[in-house]
Amino acid sequence: MSLINVQNLKKSFGALEVLKNISFTVEKNDVIAVIGPSGSGKSTMLRSLVHLETIDGGTVQIDGADLIRDGVYPKPAQIKAITGKMGMVFQHFNLFPHLTVRDNLEVAPKLLKQEDAKAIRARANDLLQKVGLADKADVYPANLSGGQKQRVAIARALMLNPQILLFDEPTSALDPELTGEVLNVMKDLAEEHMTMIVVTHEMGFAKEVANKVMFMADGEVVEVGEPQSFFENPQHRRTQDFLRKNL
Ligand code: ADP
Ligand code: MG
Repeated sequence: MSLINVQNLKKSFGALEVLKNISFTVEKNDVIAVIGPSGSGKSTMLRSLVHLETIDGGTVQIDGADLIRDGVYPKPAQIKAITGKMGMVFQHFNLFPHLTVRDNLEVAPKLLKQEDAKAIRARANDLLQKVGLADKADVYPANLSGGQKQRVAIARALMLNPQILLFDEPTSALDPELTGEVLNVMKDLAEEHMTMIVVTHEMGFAKEVANKVMFMADGEVVEVGEPQSFFENPQHRRTQDFLRKNL
């Protein structure tokens, strides 16, 4: 069974059809790089999976449970349980500016009250260590570089032990010299077999870290392939055009 199964997902903003019957699957341990021109619906697709956008039609199953079936959502409690299996990292970090790094990590698990403060603190320490920011626990986001902010955002996304991590252009807001430190953390996660969907312009990451590349254009999934065949032998005209301009 696929970890994510999207069938005929549709989404419009008013008269604008942004996602047109898109279908794809994500297997456990997949690292899928999603590429495509600006405005093709990549962000809307990711946001739909975590219910930051409302889907208009189709079926989405996450870990075997329906997020939506034939355009009908289940009860809010089920939606919450399902979206809780995923963590998301945004282009602009979306850290809470009035909270320290540590509190950014701890606020959601504390609200959920599923474990005691000591366990939450221990995991926050472990995750800050993992992203190389153990010494920044008491600092506010304003005093971090963009690369450090994004590493905090990744650690925060991991606090609720997600089965799947979604990244929406995690390095696009960073100065070039800071992208490497973020990509390295993502590479470590991939090596630990975290299941990830990564919308990115980093073709190097798509080639070297992802096991599948998905090309979206005009609200459609045009092509999915293993990196080598995808980049060396793209099947569709639109993929070929995009790669010619972006490689
Ligand atoms: P991408 O991430 O591939 O650049 P998006 O998913 O952000 O594409 O956007 C796809 C299309 O949907 C674009 O035409 C964009 O202008 C439009 N769009 C995105 N969000 C909204 C919104 N909240 N309201 C209206 N239109 C939107
Ligand atoms: Mg986008």
